[in-house]
Amino acid sequence: MLVSTAEPAPLSEPPHTVLVVDDNRVSRDQLATMVEALGYRAVTADGGLEGLRVVREAQPSLVLLDLVMPDFDGYKVAAAIKAQPRFVPVILLTGASDLESKRRGQAAGADDFLTKPVHQVELQIRIAAMIRIRALTEALDAANRRLAELADTDALTGIANRRRFDQLIATEFERCQRYQRPLSVLTLDIDHFKKVNDTHGHAIGDDVLKVVAGVVAKSLRTSDHMARTGGEEFVVLAPESNPSGALALGERLRRRVEGLSVATPSGSLQVTISVGVVAWDGVGVIDSPGLLKASDDALYQAKEKGRNRVVLALVRGEAPK
Ligand SMILES: [Mg+2]
Repeated sequence: MLVSTAEPAPLSEPPHTVLVVDDNRVSRDQLATMVEALGYRAVTADGGLEGLRVVREAQPSLVLLDLVMPDFDGYKVAAAIKAQPRFVPVILLTGASDLESKRRGQAAGADDFLTKPVHQVELQIRIAAMIRIRALTEALDAANRRLAELADTDALTGIANRRRFDQLIATEFERCQRYQRPLSVLTLDIDHFKKVNDTHGHAIGDDVLKVVAGVVAKSLRTSDHMARTGGEEFVVLAPESNPSGALALGERLRRRVEGLSVATPSGSLQVTISVGVVAWDGVGVIDSPGLLKASDDALYQAKEKGRNRVVLALVRGEAPK
């Protein structure tokens, strides 16, 4: 997924760290001094192996890399840096008019080249250009992470959406089946929600959804999962819950929602939920859609019996042969 980012990353603060990798002390110190004079923080490494260690420890924004080094040459160091997921620009220092070294260096992963002895202005231009590319790469990564998060989140309540829930139940189901661990599914539905919308308007309806989602989320263990799977429907996955534990959780959620009051212009509003609970022992033969269906059926019974109640269904089925 490609996203363009309009916002440029700040270029000044904190100062970027530039790593100078060179086996020659004089040229290493000279480069470090030039880097500092340009306003960057310089760190140095004596040789390729030390260079790789400093890359891990100092997390530099850019590496100035000498090509000819006795222990681990610039090609190898460039290749090792490029094997990491994080983009760290590498500028390879080669001899003048050494086109073959540049070709090999580029193939190994070098992003740009400088010829020794390095000119201060040329150094400034190359570093600035590479740091700009790196900033764009980072902004793009952040935007992509944010998009992935949005794709899995219900915009109104901030909890997982149906798409994410389908992944969660598949993963949890597989894990519980493999290790024969219990898994409970609770389907919650706000009673007479349509009436809330019709009487008080959709803005109040949205408030109710947010408040209910919030109180349910606060009532769960960290190992439980919760998603908004429909208009006024939420599903909770509770691994490692036996039938009585799952029933107790359903009852606790029902009571807490019953105890809520949502402010409206015409006074405070109370809502209730119906809960269908299915407790699977992790052994009985069923699949994850079957589990969800059983929980839905239990919810339907809770509605039939008058709402604001919890109905438990057990799933054992046939023992596997
Ligand atoms: Mg050298």
